[in-house]
Amino acid sequence: MTKKATTMAENTLPSVAKPPDRNGEVKPSIYMDNHATTPVDPRVLEEMLPYFSEKFGNAASHSHSFGWVAEEAVETARRRTAKLIGARPEEIVFTSGATESDNLAIKGVAEMYRGKGNHIITAVSEHRGVLDTCRRLEKQGFRITYLPVGKDGLIDLAELCSMIGRGTILVTIMAANNETGVLQPIEEIGRLCRERGVLFHSDATQAVGKMPIHVRSHSLDLLSISAHKLYGPKGVGALFVGHTDAPVEIAPIIDGGGHERGMRSGTLNVPGIVGLGKACALAGEEMPQESCRLAGLRNRLRDKILSRLEGVSINGSMEHRLPGNLNLSFAAIEGESLLMGIPEIALSSGAACNATSPEPSYVLRALGIGDDLAQSSIRFGLGRFNTEAEVDYVAGRVIETVARMRQLSAT
Ligand SMILES: *Cc1c(COP(=O)(O)O)cnc(C)c1O
Repeated sequence: MTKKATTMAENTLPSVAKPPDRNGEVKPSIYMDNHATTPVDPRVLEEMLPYFSEKFGNAASHSHSFGWVAEEAVETARRRTAKLIGARPEEIVFTSGATESDNLAIKGVAEMYRGKGNHIITAVSEHRGVLDTCRRLEKQGFRITYLPVGKDGLIDLAELCSMIGRGTILVTIMAANNETGVLQPIEEIGRLCRERGVLFHSDATQAVGKMPIHVRSHSLDLLSISAHKLYGPKGVGALFVGHTDAPVEIAPIIDGGGHERGMRSGTLNVPGIVGLGKACALAGEEMPQESCRLAGLRNRLRDKILSRLEGVSINGSMEHRLPGNLNLSFAAIEGESLLMGIPEIALSSGAACNATSPEPSYVLRALGIGDDLAQSSIRFGLGRFNTEAEVDYVAGRVIETVARMRQLSAT
């Protein structure tokens, strides 16, 4: 861990003794927005590079070694991806990312099981990849139940249970929320769905590689993964499509050459898939130590800020939360303005990432947080390359900036 920390730290860590130059345009030099995306781990990049150059073959070319080399690399990546979630290689379908995986899972089940029913259950705090897909299906005559979440961000299992009816074909609930880091009880949800004979999909984009996910013990039928949230490249992901007694059947949304067993046509993104595989292998190896390290850093950040500032609230359950996530609201402070006061730190505010309308986050609103506090929220997303020195620097800058902003508005 020290080795990679130094590789990245060389260009990203501003020494605490020498604060970044704050004249003129400031480039963020501390990256703490790892729920939006993560940097590609240098070890992942290294493994990908040959597949852009000498090993450029098409994995579907069966008549020469260029194709065989590419195909072998894809199958290695498939095994590695499957292993991280306790699946079998043949249950992995490579896609362009989690948005596509969510679309494929939900639309694919909707089309395939329409004869059985037209009801799908999800939750209000899901990612847009799930919510907007459900909205589209609604226009096509499907009935969608959007479960509410409590102040802690969790769905109510009894409520989920009561919503499952004869026409219910799918429950789609995320494993970890991308804003609050809140973990849904996917094991219990899976058990419930299995008992009631309903398929269970989980958008596990934020959870995979950060916490143990096991598709069998969590009774998952479908699960979405994205490489760029776990130190792999952008534009590649996977959908787990379970095959226990019978295969889960999904209709493709992209038709063509019949790649990925007909579920996702199109020439495979070999370098990207190699990167996803390597990222999964690394995440699996390092997860136990890394999740402890991240939880330690996250708690350090929280304790420093809470001990020095009044009027700070934690959004969502602290107990059921990803180790690297902290989502705070600072009373009487606008999140966007706070971020402008600390331009050398890359963080995200609770206003939707939609530049034209600074709407408060629908995820925070779903927790019953008022617009004011939702507007005053900041998401800290700690990742593999963050260090304790960075945490201390960020805590110091947040404390000092919030205190100054409050003083200014009081006078
Ligand atoms: C980032 C994210 C997605 C989208 O993944 P892409 O690979 O960028 O399409 C979907 N769901 C969640 C929970 C995410 O955090």
